[in-house]
Amino acid sequence: MTLEERLSEVTARAATAAARAGRSIDELTIIPVTKFHPASLVRELYALGVRDVAENRHQEAREKAVELADLTDLRWNFVGQLQGKKARQVRSYAHIIHSVDRASLIDSLSSEDDDTSIFLQVNLTDDPGRGGAAAEQLEELTEYALRAPGIRLEGLMAVAPLGVEPQAAFARVRELSERIRLIAPMASSISTGMSADFEFAIAEGATHLRIGTAITGNRPTDG
Ligand SMILES: *Cc1c(COP(=O)(O)O)cnc(C)c1O
Repeated sequence: MTLEERLSEVTARAATAAARAGRSIDELTIIPVTKFHPASLVRELYALGVRDVAENRHQEAREKAVELADLTDLRWNFVGQLQGKKARQVRSYAHIIHSVDRASLIDSLSSEDDDTSIFLQVNLTDDPGRGGAAAEQLEELTEYALRAPGIRLEGLMAVAPLGVEPQAAFARVRELSERIRLIAPMASSISTGMSADFEFAIAEGATHLRIGTAITGNRPTDG
Protein backbone atom coordinates (compact mmCIF):
# COMPACT_ATOMS: atom_id res chain seq x y z
CA MET A 1 0.00 0.00 0.00
CA THR A 2 1.11 3.56 -0.64
CA LEU A 3 1.20 6.30 1.95
CA GLU A 4 -1.91 7.80 0.39
CA GLU A 5 -3.76 4.49 0.59
CA ARG A 6 -2.80 3.94 4.23
CA LEU A 7 -3.85 7.47 5.15
CA SER A 8 -7.21 7.10 3.47
CA GLU A 9 -7.75 3.68 5.01
CA VAL A 10 -7.07 5.04 8.51
CA THR A 11 -9.35 7.99 7.82
CA ALA A 12 -12.13 5.67 6.64
CA ARG A 13 -11.74 3.44 9.71
CA ALA A 14 -11.85 6.51 11.95
CA ALA A 15 -15.02 7.72 10.22
CA THR A 16 -16.65 4.32 10.71
CA ALA A 17 -15.68 4.21 14.37
CA ALA A 18 -16.99 7.75 14.83
CA ALA A 19 -20.31 6.93 13.18
CA ARG A 20 -20.64 3.86 15.39
CA ALA A 21 -20.18 6.10 18.43
CA GLY A 22 -22.69 8.65 17.12
CA ARG A 23 -19.89 11.11 16.46
CA SER A 24 -18.67 12.98 13.40
CA ILE A 25 -15.26 12.59 11.78
CA ASP A 26 -15.08 16.40 11.94
CA GLU A 27 -14.55 16.11 15.70
CA LEU A 28 -11.34 14.13 15.11
CA THR A 29 -7.85 15.33 14.32
CA ILE A 30 -5.74 12.53 12.89
CA ILE A 31 -2.10 13.29 13.65
CA PRO A 32 0.40 11.12 11.77
CA VAL A 33 3.40 10.34 13.99
CA THR A 34 6.43 10.69 11.73
CA LYS A 35 9.26 9.81 14.16
CA PHE A 36 12.21 7.99 12.56
CA HIS A 37 10.95 8.91 9.10
CA PRO A 38 12.67 11.53 6.96
CA ALA A 39 11.34 15.03 6.44
CA SER A 40 10.45 14.01 2.89
CA LEU A 41 7.70 11.76 4.27
CA VAL A 42 6.25 14.70 6.18
CA ARG A 43 6.28 16.68 2.97
CA GLU A 44 4.40 13.89 1.19
CA LEU A 45 1.80 13.87 3.96
CA TYR A 46 1.44 17.62 3.62
CA ALA A 47 0.81 17.23 -0.09
CA LEU A 48 -1.97 14.79 0.81
CA GLY A 49 -3.64 17.46 2.94
CA VAL A 50 -2.21 16.65 6.38
CA ARG A 51 -1.65 19.74 8.54
CA ASP A 52 -0.74 18.15 11.89
CA VAL A 53 2.19 15.80 12.44
CA ALA A 54 3.76 14.49 15.66
CA GLU A 55 7.28 13.76 16.79
CA ASN A 56 8.61 12.35 20.06
CA ARG A 57 12.25 13.42 20.14
CA HIS A 58 13.39 17.00 20.33
CA GLN A 59 16.52 16.82 18.19
CA GLU A 60 14.82 15.00 15.36
CA ALA A 61 11.71 17.15 15.53
CA ARG A 62 13.68 20.37 15.42
CA GLU A 63 15.69 19.27 12.39
CA LYS A 64 12.53 18.42 10.47
CA ALA A 65 10.79 21.62 11.49
CA VAL A 66 13.76 23.61 10.22
CA GLU A 67 13.92 21.66 6.98
CA LEU A 68 10.20 22.11 6.38
CA ALA A 69 9.93 25.72 7.49
CA ASP A 70 8.38 26.59 4.12
CA LEU A 71 5.23 24.64 5.10
CA THR A 72 4.02 27.53 7.20
CA ASP A 73 0.63 26.10 8.11
CA LEU A 74 1.97 22.70 9.21
CA ARG A 75 1.48 22.19 12.95
CA TRP A 76 4.13 20.26 14.89
CA ASN A 77 2.81 18.21 17.80
CA PHE A 78 5.33 17.05 20.39
CA VAL A 79 4.36 13.77 22.07
CA GLY A 80 7.57 12.52 23.71
CA GLN A 81 8.89 12.78 27.23
CA LEU A 82 10.18 16.26 27.72
CA GLN A 83 13.23 17.34 29.70
CA GLY A 84 12.81 20.61 31.57
CA LYS A 85 15.90 22.13 30.07
CA LYS A 86 14.70 21.39 26.52
CA ALA A 87 11.16 22.65 27.02
CA ARG A 88 11.76 26.20 25.81
CA GLN A 89 13.48 24.93 22.68
CA VAL A 90 10.60 22.58 21.93
CA ARG A 91 8.19 25.47 22.37
CA SER A 92 10.04 27.40 19.66
CA TYR A 93 8.78 25.08 16.89
CA ALA A 94 6.04 22.90 18.42
CA HIS A 95 2.52 24.27 18.30
CA ILE A 96 1.00 21.68 20.61
CA ILE A 97 2.75 19.73 23.35
CA HIS A 98 0.88 16.58 24.39
CA SER A 99 3.23 15.33 27.08
CA VAL A 100 3.12 17.89 29.89
CA ASP A 101 3.11 16.07 33.22
CA ARG A 102 4.49 18.38 35.89
CA ALA A 103 4.25 21.93 37.17
CA SER A 104 7.91 22.74 36.43
CA LEU A 105 7.31 22.01 32.73
CA ILE A 106 4.32 24.35 32.72
CA ASP A 107 6.61 27.02 34.17
CA SER A 108 9.19 26.42 31.43
CA LEU A 109 6.56 26.60 28.68
CA SER A 110 4.73 29.57 30.10
CA SER A 111 5.36 32.99 28.58
CA GLU A 112 3.85 36.46 28.76
CA ASP A 113 4.60 36.94 25.07
CA ASP A 114 2.88 34.14 23.23
CA ASP A 115 0.68 31.11 23.64
CA THR A 116 1.48 27.41 23.70
CA SER A 117 -1.20 24.74 23.57
CA ILE A 118 -0.68 21.81 25.89
CA PHE A 119 -2.25 18.55 26.91
CA LEU A 120 -1.70 17.14 30.38
CA GLN A 121 -0.49 13.57 30.05
CA VAL A 122 -1.85 11.06 32.53
CA ASN A 123 0.08 7.89 33.35
CA LEU A 124 -2.31 4.94 33.39
CA THR A 125 0.31 2.51 34.73
CA ASP A 126 1.77 2.05 38.21
CA ASP A 127 5.25 2.68 36.83
CA PRO A 128 6.32 6.24 37.62
CA GLY A 129 9.11 5.91 35.01
CA ARG A 130 6.47 6.13 32.29
CA GLY A 131 5.55 9.57 31.07
CA GLY A 132 2.52 11.21 32.60
CA ALA A 133 1.23 12.52 35.89
CA ALA A 134 -0.61 10.31 38.35
CA ALA A 135 -4.38 10.65 38.03
CA GLU A 136 -4.57 12.14 41.52
CA GLN A 137 -2.37 15.06 40.44
CA LEU A 138 -4.46 16.12 37.46
CA GLU A 139 -6.77 18.55 39.21
CA GLU A 140 -3.90 20.40 40.82
CA LEU A 141 -2.00 20.51 37.51
CA THR A 142 -5.11 21.78 35.75
CA GLU A 143 -5.40 24.64 38.20
CA TYR A 144 -1.71 25.34 37.80
CA ALA A 145 -1.99 25.42 34.00
CA LEU A 146 -4.97 27.77 34.15
CA ARG A 147 -2.94 30.28 36.16
CA ALA A 148 0.14 30.11 33.89
CA PRO A 149 0.47 32.98 31.37
CA GLY A 150 0.48 31.90 27.74
CA ILE A 151 -0.60 28.31 28.46
CA ARG A 152 -3.69 27.08 26.65
CA LEU A 153 -4.85 23.85 28.19
CA GLU A 154 -6.43 21.68 25.50
CA GLY A 155 -7.20 18.58 27.55
CA LEU A 156 -5.77 15.20 28.49
CA MET A 157 -3.39 12.83 26.74
CA ALA A 158 -2.69 9.18 27.54
CA VAL A 159 -1.18 5.99 26.13
CA ALA A 160 -3.07 2.75 26.79
CA PRO A 161 -0.88 0.48 28.96
CA LEU A 162 0.16 -2.92 27.68
CA GLY A 163 -1.86 -5.80 29.01
CA VAL A 164 -4.99 -3.76 29.71
CA GLU A 165 -8.13 -3.65 27.58
CA PRO A 166 -7.58 -0.42 25.65
CA GLN A 167 -11.23 0.53 25.80
CA ALA A 168 -11.23 0.31 29.59
CA ALA A 169 -8.11 2.47 29.70
CA PHE A 170 -9.71 5.06 27.44
CA ALA A 171 -12.94 5.01 29.44
CA ARG A 172 -10.85 5.94 32.46
CA VAL A 173 -9.33 8.87 30.53
CA ARG A 174 -12.82 10.04 29.60
CA GLU A 175 -13.81 10.03 33.29
CA LEU A 176 -10.70 12.00 34.20
CA SER A 177 -11.41 14.42 31.37
CA GLU A 178 -14.91 15.03 32.74
CA ARG A 179 -13.40 15.71 36.12
CA ILE A 180 -10.87 18.29 34.94
CA ARG A 181 -13.54 19.99 32.83
CA LEU A 182 -15.30 20.96 36.04
CA ILE A 183 -12.26 23.15 36.67
CA ALA A 184 -11.35 24.00 33.06
CA PRO A 185 -14.45 23.73 30.82
CA MET A 186 -12.48 24.56 27.66
CA ALA A 187 -10.01 21.74 28.22
CA SER A 188 -12.29 19.29 26.45
CA SER A 189 -9.89 17.60 24.02
CA ILE A 190 -8.68 14.03 24.51
CA SER A 191 -5.48 12.81 22.86
CA THR A 192 -5.67 9.01 22.89
CA GLY A 193 -5.46 6.29 20.28
CA MET A 194 -2.53 4.89 18.32
CA SER A 195 -2.31 2.50 15.38
CA ALA A 196 -3.40 -0.55 17.35
CA ASP A 197 -6.23 0.96 19.36
CA PHE A 198 -7.60 4.15 17.81
CA GLU A 199 -11.06 2.78 17.18
CA PHE A 200 -11.48 2.11 20.92
CA ALA A 201 -10.22 5.61 21.62
CA ILE A 202 -12.84 7.09 19.31
CA ALA A 203 -15.54 5.08 21.09
CA GLU A 204 -14.41 6.71 24.34
CA GLY A 205 -14.35 10.29 23.16
CA ALA A 206 -10.87 10.82 21.69
CA THR A 207 -10.54 14.02 19.68
CA HIS A 208 -6.85 13.75 18.74
CA LEU A 209 -5.45 10.47 17.40
CA ARG A 210 -1.66 10.00 17.29
CA ILE A 211 -1.20 7.39 14.59
CA GLY A 212 2.20 6.19 13.45
CA THR A 213 2.77 2.92 11.65
CA ALA A 214 -0.79 2.45 10.38
CA ILE A 215 -0.19 5.55 8.26
CA THR A 216 3.57 5.65 7.71
CA GLY A 217 4.25 1.93 7.43
CA ASN A 218 6.99 0.39 9.52
CA ARG A 219 9.50 2.79 11.02
CA PRO A 220 12.98 2.60 9.44
CA THR A 221 14.73 2.08 12.78
CA ASP A 222 12.71 1.67 15.91
CA GLY A 223 14.47 2.17 19.17
C1 LIG B 1 5.10 6.57 18.43
C2 LIG B 1 3.98 7.13 19.20
C3 LIG B 1 2.65 7.02 18.74
C4 LIG B 1 2.26 6.26 17.48
O1 LIG B 1 2.49 4.89 17.64
P1 LIG B 1 1.97 3.82 16.54
O2 LIG B 1 1.81 2.58 17.34
O3 LIG B 1 3.05 3.72 15.52
O4 LIG B 1 0.70 4.33 15.99
C5 LIG B 1 1.66 7.62 19.49
N1 LIG B 1 1.92 8.28 20.64
C6 LIG B 1 3.17 8.40 21.11
C7 LIG B 1 3.38 9.13 22.39
C8 LIG B 1 4.24 7.84 20.41
O5 LIG B 1 5.48 7.95 20.90
